[in-house]
Amino acid sequence: MNQAQLQQVLEGLVADHRSAHHLGQVADYIPELGKGDPSLAGIAVWSPEGLVSAGDCRIPFTLQSISKIFTLMVVLRDRGEEEVFSRVGSEPTGDPFNSIVKLETAERRPLNPMINAGAIAVCGMLEGKTLEERFARVTDLLEEVLGRPVSIDENVYRSEKETGHRNRALAYFLKDTGVLDGDVEEVVDIYFRQCSILVTCEELARLGLFVANKGVTLDGRRLLPRRIVRLVSTFMVTCGMYNASGEFAINVGIPAKSGVAGGILAVVPERFGIGTFGPALDRKGNSIVGVRMLRDLSRQFELSIF
Ligand code: GLU
Repeated sequence: MNQAQLQQVLEGLVADHRSAHHLGQVADYIPELGKGDPSLAGIAVWSPEGLVSAGDCRIPFTLQSISKIFTLMVVLRDRGEEEVFSRVGSEPTGDPFNSIVKLETAERRPLNPMINAGAIAVCGMLEGKTLEERFARVTDLLEEVLGRPVSIDENVYRSEKETGHRNRALAYFLKDTGVLDGDVEEVVDIYFRQCSILVTCEELARLGLFVANKGVTLDGRRLLPRRIVRLVSTFMVTCGMYNASGEFAINVGIPAKSGVAGGILAVVPERFGIGTFGPALDRKGNSIVGVRMLRDLSRQFELSIF
């Protein structure tokens, strides 16, 4: 299939599924996200042959939970697997992303780095003397991959900072159990910042290609060891789509990570990266339109890795 044919396929996916947004709702527990336009829909595929996209692919939105995979890569590189997995586990949970219930386990550490508690624990391991230096570990990686300076949506950041009490509660619990060192408010602040990083759907596909290429950029620079990116891709399969990860593995079958602003970053290993955008979410927090487009694309081209 050439790029022009792929373009037609993507246009078709957007046309077929855009209206499904009526079945879901934009996230509004972060008040600023509640202002999102549910009818937006876009999909982008970035392969070694280049970028093909359709729909609303150049509108910036916040990464939200998709940021968790990049922070995890940075921390695995800087701290090593042994330390990271002494503070956060590697098992899926059947619980919502912001669940507080399973923290009180025998081990008293978060079950995995994709749920909020685990991601906050990972933020606590970022290295640097100041908050800015630690946050820059994450933005530096994204900037290297995207080839542009990264910024955050200040309104979304402030909105979550003012209302993210559950995330704060998770963080204080982790401080109590010794998973988090240092200043809890600072760690949570970094977490809110990383969730507010702005990207477009096309850029999600580019980030996806970086994951598909196991840590190598478009222009051939290796930024991370292959093993780290493979490990993070595995988490995307087991926990990337919240407590719908099993269903997504059956219906779509590729590593993916979604965020509550409506983005999904998906990866066809060794082949290409896919970004989708559609702010209306299903009950488990995944973009309704995005999941449907990925399901059809995967079926049509037999993309499942299983
Ligand atoms: N900032 C969001 C939160 O912590 C991220 C959630 C998500 O995208 O899953 O609630």
